[in-house]
Amino acid sequence: MSADLLAVDGLVAGYGAAPVLHAVDLRVPAGTITAVVGANGAGKTTLLRTLSGMLRPTAGRVLLDGEDLRGTPVEQLVRRGMAHVPEGRGVIGELTVEENLRLGALWRRDRTDAARALDEIYQLFEPLARRRRHLGHQLSGGERQMLALGRALVARPRLLLLDEPSLGLAPRVVAQTMALLRNLRDNAGLTVLLVEQNVRSALAVADQGVVMSLGRVVTTAPADRLRDDADLRHAYLGF
Ligand code: ATP
Repeated sequence: MSADLLAVDGLVAGYGAAPVLHAVDLRVPAGTITAVVGANGAGKTTLLRTLSGMLRPTAGRVLLDGEDLRGTPVEQLVRRGMAHVPEGRGVIGELTVEENLRLGALWRRDRTDAARALDEIYQLFEPLARRRRHLGHQLSGGERQMLALGRALVARPRLLLLDEPSLGLAPRVVAQTMALLRNLRDNAGLTVLLVEQNVRSALAVADQGVVMSLGRVVTTAPADRLRDDADLRHAYLGF
């Protein structure tokens, strides 16, 4: 068992007076993929937003590689190795592919290093290399997903927070995305926290599954055990 890259204890967060997350506990081992699944409104997106500093928790703590992240500004979180690809992906339609990717490398002072990181992304995502001068809004849904992922990967994160990467994509593109995540885990040691409505695809690629319901973690288990547990699937996952 590898050490935990991310440890979350008693996290409480929300958008107003009433919390959405009620004391969430979570462990994400380094070099693994964890899928967070659960019905609409379970709090999955809110969890990722809180981890990436978009929302401030009212209680609890988040440790990245043993370091408490409380009060850490968002840009510092990127430096410490966290990257968030939000739901809807946040590609900027008026900028070119290359400009969008450069945004991911902005914080790097070393320009040679940034250029190398961009080259790596173009090797990983060949269609982006071909379209580097196209605007974000000229891309297909699958290409936009690649670009959002690429922009996060340019920062060479240790922990990738990924919200609904399969949303609106053809099954073939979903399969490619999942295969890429597996590849990055196996060959680059990337750790992924993946939020998905597409439970089957998510549990197929994940090592660990976390089931959320009404702002709480109800079960954490190896992904294959969750796939095989019919009672749990019926109760929380709807299949
Ligand atoms: P989905 O897959 O539908 O996005 P989810 O599990 O990601 O579901 P969240 O989006 O985290 O769930 O939503 C959890 C709760 O927080 C819901 O009750 C939702 O109405 C509420 N919520 C989400 N975003 C906001 C917001 N910006 N302001 C106020 N409440 C919000």
